[in-house]
Amino acid sequence: MDRVRRPSAKLEGLTPYDPKYLPADAMLSANENPRDVSEELRQKIEAAVREVAFNRYPDPLANDLRDAIAEANGLDREHVLVGNGGDELLFNTALAWGGPGRTFLNLPPTFSVYAANARLTDTDVLDIPRLADQDFAIDEEAVLRAVSGPDSQVDFTIIASPNNPTGLRARMEFLQELLAATDALVMVDEAYFEFSRQTMRPHLEANKNLVILRTFSKAFSLAGVRVGYILGHPDVIREYLKVRQPYSVDAVSQAIARVIYQNRAEFEPGINAIIAERERLTGALGALPGVHAYPSHANWVLFSVPEAARVWQGLYDAGILVRDFSTAPGLEGTLRVTVGTPEENDAFLNALRKEI
Ligand SMILES: *Cc1c(COP(=O)(O)O)cnc(C)c1O
Repeated sequence: MDRVRRPSAKLEGLTPYDPKYLPADAMLSANENPRDVSEELRQKIEAAVREVAFNRYPDPLANDLRDAIAEANGLDREHVLVGNGGDELLFNTALAWGGPGRTFLNLPPTFSVYAANARLTDTDVLDIPRLADQDFAIDEEAVLRAVSGPDSQVDFTIIASPNNPTGLRARMEFLQELLAATDALVMVDEAYFEFSRQTMRPHLEANKNLVILRTFSKAFSLAGVRVGYILGHPDVIREYLKVRQPYSVDAVSQAIARVIYQNRAEFEPGINAIIAERERLTGALGALPGVHAYPSHANWVLFSVPEAARVWQGLYDAGILVRDFSTAPGLEGTLRVTVGTPEENDAFLNALRKEI
């Protein structure tokens, strides 16, 4: 046959996710850790991978890794689920809590994957935009109003804290109020909590509707390996088990993540360096004429700059890749720079000064 039937109508108008990942001297576009895994850890990883039976299916639930994560968080394994990156667990959230006739509360501008997953699962989306004139803080009153009362249609919400790509974390008091005001599932996406030093973990026991998402991709330098996890009530985790792909986390990734997690204290100095550099970058950006640097609790800084698209190109021509949000809805005129090494950040600032 030289033709093929049309795919599902919901794919119309959708475009594949494009991270706009281009080769560059300084890769400051994807919020990765600028420091790769150390040589010593690589050797431990090699030894662990050598033990993997490639001909056998992996443990579907990655129970060894699950136990390590549970223990570190003062929980049992039933409270933990490991996924193929946080992204898989985000999709599973839409599969399990979304669907036709169901409603997802979104707080844009935020991680675009949330809305894409809602669309793929035919979930209705209720948008409550963040406050652009308050550095994209959450419109807390509007959110509480939307979820409160018996008439609320909201089935689940995902709140990135810190919020990607804008930078602020959510206020803990607000999240507590939200959890108390609704029985909707509230996922707090803590992909960057190591940089914000704030977690909702202490509120898990009191709130069955709270799920926390974390990842190995950012602070733990493992974006290339694909491991993330959620913490939640065992009844909630059990619902996730029904929708997940049985073998989504391969044996090699499980082995690598186990070594990294056992040695996670090794990443602390790098995390502290990133936090210090974030503050330096924010200050230096804010001192440039016409530039507004949004406050960030994560490992990047969003900033607005006149002629942002041209500035992006000028930076790229100088070997520096940052993320272009200049035409993204609600983010017009902004770029996002991931905090790199001090040398990379200097190169970025020098190149930027030449563009403005
Ligand atoms: C990076 C990121 C994730 C998870 O990424 P994975 O690499 O799939 O683990 C989740 N949420 C946000 C907001 C992120 O930026």
